[in-house]
Amino acid sequence: MRLTILGSGTNLHPTRAAAGYLVRTDHTLLLDFGPRTLSNLLKTGVNRHQITHVLFSHFHADHFSDFITYFFDAMIYTKYQGGQRAPLTVVGPRGTARLFRILFASLPGFSEPPFTVRFKEVSDRPFWIGATRICPRTVTHSPGLHCVGYRLEYKGKALAYSGDSEYCPNLVQLCGDADVAILDCSYPANRPGPVHLHAGQCGQVASEAGVGQLILSHFYPMAERFDVKSQAAVLYGGVIRKGKDLLEIRL
Ligand SMILES: [Zn+2]
Ligand SMILES: [Zn+2]
Repeated sequence: MRLTILGSGTNLHPTRAAAGYLVRTDHTLLLDFGPRTLSNLLKTGVNRHQITHVLFSHFHADHFSDFITYFFDAMIYTKYQGGQRAPLTVVGPRGTARLFRILFASLPGFSEPPFTVRFKEVSDRPFWIGATRICPRTVTHSPGLHCVGYRLEYKGKALAYSGDSEYCPNLVQLCGDADVAILDCSYPANRPGPVHLHAGQCGQVASEAGVGQLILSHFYPMAERFDVKSQAAVLYGGVIRKGKDLLEIRL
């Protein structure tokens, strides 16, 4: 399994794209698709038309907005440029199908794609994409918003991705014994805030879950001003890396 971080920041972070991760197993998958991650996807050299699944944690725009540009490009490519692309499955929490049906019906050029598009709503039941086992799990983020984290298992390795989350038991379970966990490190431990983890809690989750390696990501600019790695290391003794756009990790 190969993970490439497409975006390690948030909405309007000055130097990082917002949330997005490319995962290559027997399929080419995306976890979230936030602003500026599409440009980074092009830099990886991956054929964007071979992406078969986009898995959304939730639909805050910092996890979602580049999908619009991506899909419009796919429509032009297949409708007017003679291109063909793989069927596309959009996976996300409750409300995903409704959201996309409204979008596709409302945005000019989005209706009647000449390739198959499917929607799959998930909560906590595992499913397979080819030989990759996907375990979504509901995590606690904004009140009233259904947000899921994802665990991907392939060839004996496990990658966990928190999406956006506060500290919650489901998040620890999602990350249980994962080889690599990418966690929402929005805040430094000394400047905690609502609905996201801070660096110290990232270390706590990694420690309680017994993960092999912790990747801190989803930084707000405030998190850049403090040593978040050391803050995470207070409770977690394993390998900690600070996420960086286009960082590639092999599992
Ligand atoms: Zn969010
Ligand atoms: Zn976010």
